Amino acid sequence: MRDWFRHRYQQALVNRLSLLDTAVSHRSALVFAPHEDDETLGCGGMILKKRAVGADVNVVFMTDGRQSHAHLIPTEQLVELRRQEAIAACRELGVAEADVSFLGFTDGYLSESIDTAVAQVLDCLRQTRPQEVFIPYFKEPPADHLATNRIVLAALETFGQPVTVYEYPIWFWHHWPWVSLNPSTQGERRAIFKNTLHTFFGGRLFTDFNCFLDIADVRAQKCTALEAHKTQMTSLMPEKGWLTLHDVADGDWLACFFMNQEIYRRFQLPRSKS
Ligand SMILES: [Zn+2]
Repeated sequence: MRDWFRHRYQQALVNRLSLLDTAVSHRSALVFAPHEDDETLGCGGMILKKRAVGADVNVVFMTDGRQSHAHLIPTEQLVELRRQEAIAACRELGVAEADVSFLGFTDGYLSESIDTAVAQVLDCLRQTRPQEVFIPYFKEPPADHLATNRIVLAALETFGQPVTVYEYPIWFWHHWPWVSLNPSTQGERRAIFKNTLHTFFGGRLFTDFNCFLDIADVRAQKCTALEAHKTQMTSLMPEKGWLTLHDVADGDWLACFFMNQEIYRRFQLPRSKS
């Protein structure tokens, strides 16, 4: 039953959202990721296509990723691992280490450093002067994702230059029919049910997003890049319950990032006054 709905939703996505043409690949981009892995999950295909034609792409990581397995590994060790993994993943996406920045805010607490973060993001914008900026979807908890959206939009307002913004979904996908309403863990079942109501049974896909990129030709490379995030993709201590992205909704959620389409909410800044 869910497969039928998911298939219909995917068909509707292709029919109702506009397909981004190849011109988008040639435009320079600055990608903001709240955590080390969001860049590949949310816009790995886009980055690969841009780098394949030589467009400038810079990636900025907002937080240090220390929360993912904080109870299993010392903080400094986890932060360093995630930094190295992010550099390796970006390399797989075609982005050199020199074009990767880490702002290093504490994972989970970005919203407590809004002013400092806006100033640093503004510096990044002034240094790279991108034609396009990529940020998380504006209605998407967790808090660091919402904060990243808010911080970058505030910095863009001061920046004042014409920029196309693309919001990419990550945790948005954590609702039916993309994931099962009946996952193996009780806590996740409640979250999925709540998310399903909040997205109007998935209807937000069509009201909040307006375009998609066909990534069929670079999907395998996107997968390779994501594998570079070993702490997130491999259970390093299975005996201690080291969870990975595969465990979210029993793998249904991760599968959403490897469809043939990456979806986006695109708009232009400054907004035209009318
Ligand atoms: Zn994240």
